[in-house]
Amino acid sequence: VPRYIGSDKDRVRVVVRVRPMSEREYDESRKPQKVLHCVNENSIIFDGGQHSRRFTFDSVFNEASSQDEVFQYCGIKRLVDMAIEGYITTCFAYGQTGSGKTHTMIGAQGASIFRMDEQYRVEHLGIVPRSINYLFQRLRDKTLQSSSPYYIRVSYCEIYNEQIRDLIRPANPDALQVRGSIEDGFYVENLYQTYIETIDELLTILEEGELNRAMASHKLNDTSSRSHALLSIQIEQDVQESDDPNEQMTRQGKLIFVDLAGSEKVKLSHSKGKQLVETNNINKSLLTLGTCISALSDPSKRSGHIPYRESKLTRLLAESLGGHGITLMIACISPSRLCENESMNTLRYANRAKNI
Ligand code: ADP
Ligand code: MG
Repeated sequence: VPRYIGSDKDRVRVVVRVRPMSEREYDESRKPQKVLHCVNENSIIFDGGQHSRRFTFDSVFNEASSQDEVFQYCGIKRLVDMAIEGYITTCFAYGQTGSGKTHTMIGAQGASIFRMDEQYRVEHLGIVPRSINYLFQRLRDKTLQSSSPYYIRVSYCEIYNEQIRDLIRPANPDALQVRGSIEDGFYVENLYQTYIETIDELLTILEEGELNRAMASHKLNDTSSRSHALLSIQIEQDVQESDDPNEQMTRQGKLIFVDLAGSEKVKLSHSKGKQLVETNNINKSLLTLGTCISALSDPSKRSGHIPYRESKLTRLLAESLGGHGITLMIACISPSRLCENESMNTLRYANRAKNI
């Protein structure tokens, strides 16, 4: 796997998307309801009454941004292009429950989007299906010039309470194990993987995965907001490194999309026993992820100890975070005063991930 040798500045890209206020948020108060103001395409002002603070990111998308604008300008196309070249790249959606992560990644209405008509889908599909569309387009262009074909292999799983569940084959045993090492990369043992050839095959996987996610969460009392969903798209191509026809290698780039668990602080006071363990596991994996990303974006910390091993999520992303690829973080927030504390936390987290 090639190591990323571009500039540090481009290693981690952080963008923010502010969703429109919901009806409920409009109704709750007649006071100034918005605490967030997008001032231009890079800056956002948090105005909490007592204090205001300005944050700068690689891009800021306001309430009026369309799904297509976010796709075009968030930087995801570069990740797709690099994955084709053999890099391992990751795109995260971070934010509190209800902030727009699934809307941004999958599309409006979550899994139901796949049953909407063509016209609705064109407008409302999220980044994942748009990226796959773009990927297929790029491969079609590329294949024209190159002799060997590309293969696309997909897996989809969720990490809930440090347990891994297969979202394509939910019948697979509940607790799949992570194997491997930092040197060779980590993987999920026995996770189902399937080759796809068309965008429709991928959409079917996304739809079924979302439904499996929802179904499992129903059984366990709405936990979908507490699980991380990882969609991994591996792009393989046989390449000839030398004139010797026996020396064929397979180049394997990867594009990983992660719809993270809600970042809200789950109230610890009422959690006991099993629930407390669960809460700790969720907060810990997001915390570890933050530490790993900020270490990655800071050259002085990168050579030191990076705590990948501390959570399953960061173990599975170690290769990508550890220098074989680039990372895009999309922080989702509501502009409403009702969410001001969580929005501030999200902006701080996003700011910390950014290259300093
Ligand atoms: P999360 O996955 O972070 O919990 P969702 O993506 O489910 O949040 O969004 C919560 C609600 O807000 C959904 O009804 C969704 O359709 C709506 N929503 C989120 N982002 C936007 C947006 N940019 N434009 C319009 N509606 C949005
Ligand atoms: Mg969601």
